[in-house]
Amino acid sequence: MPEDYYDILGVSRDASDDEIKKAYRKKAMKYHPDRNPDDPEAEAKFKRAAEAYEVLSSSEKRQRYDRYGHAGVGNGSRGGAGAGFQDINDIFDAFGDIFGGAAGGGSIFDEVFRNAGQRRRSSRRSGKAGSDLRIKLPLTLEEIAEGAEKRIKVQKFVQCDDCSGTGAAGGTEGENFMMCPECDGTGEIRQVSRSVFGQFVNVQACPRCNGEGRIIQDKCATCGGQGRLEDEETITINVPPGVMEGNYLTLREAGNAGLRGGPAGDLRIEIEEEPHEHFKRDGLDIFYDLHISFPDAALGTEVEVPTLKGKAKLQIDPGIQAGKILRMRDRGLPEFNGSRQGDQLIRVHVWTPQELSAEQEDVLREWQSAEPFTPKPENTKPRKSFFSKVKDVFT
Ligand SMILES: [Zn+2]
Ligand SMILES: [Zn+2]
Repeated sequence: MPEDYYDILGVSRDASDDEIKKAYRKKAMKYHPDRNPDDPEAEAKFKRAAEAYEVLSSSEKRQRYDRYGHAGVGNGSRGGAGAGFQDINDIFDAFGDIFGGAAGGGSIFDEVFRNAGQRRRSSRRSGKAGSDLRIKLPLTLEEIAEGAEKRIKVQKFVQCDDCSGTGAAGGTEGENFMMCPECDGTGEIRQVSRSVFGQFVNVQACPRCNGEGRIIQDKCATCGGQGRLEDEETITINVPPGVMEGNYLTLREAGNAGLRGGPAGDLRIEIEEEPHEHFKRDGLDIFYDLHISFPDAALGTEVEVPTLKGKAKLQIDPGIQAGKILRMRDRGLPEFNGSRQGDQLIRVHVWTPQELSAEQEDVLREWQSAEPFTPKPENTKPRKSFFSKVKDVFT
């Protein structure tokens, strides 16, 4: 069970935005990697605080978190571990704006942040980032109504375990690498050209080391020095209730692994609605076409209709007209990130017999010109209640 975001920041559930921001700054200052070098526990706390702040600082995400917990904010787990921020650098990318800018209060933080930024550039010795992946996730209306835990298989590049993603035989950092002689380890080639307009400096990634600044001397045999392999991974996704076609969840760094330890891309999961055998969706409502016989329409009856939660019995009043729409309250879909609940709408169709025996024709002819059979749309009796009662639901 992941730790509660409010507990992580040490604020109450009704804390104001300002209190949340202050609490996060305090935690981030305390556990900042520059102040706690080589302290994995502090680093983990720093990351957790950032993850909590990312959610609680957005009113939309905070609302979803309050309602659905971790599942509501897309932190679907992969392989059990909570997704979210895997890389400290992501935190700076995401929250650079709250650290910098404002005069006064933020001064110490600005300093820390700048250092971290510099450190990040100089320590960046890994390869190219992995690409993002997109996957379609088909869901039934029942799954959308309830929310669902889905397991999907993803074909992708994963880190090579034999070299811990470094690409070097044995995976030992340092000894198996040599500084790139072409760019002296900078990863960049600078070309200076002069013209009448002045001097131009053209900076390009070093082609010899692909901008990594170092070269592997003895490549890992398993991955051929790439640091990653094609494989299949099973990912568990917690889909919150109420999603719709076109919505997507992004799992950070669950995409393709990077080259030689480069950061992984993201995995974007796009929701697709499967067609339903009984229902058509219209926003939060679902439509169902009910076909009843002419005698049932005239005399009234009780019918059984499917709902998203099993079958239900529905009373049909005598004299119901074709085309009427009956409403079963709250039998539709829940609003994503909200409190509304849709209805199930029953469109009534009256079946006109197309083949009759001679005897049946005689019976109908007898009534053909009888007064009650003459259409009188102007004084159709209002239904007793627009909202039909669901008598009994059983699954
Ligand atoms: Zn390898
Ligand atoms: Zn180079």
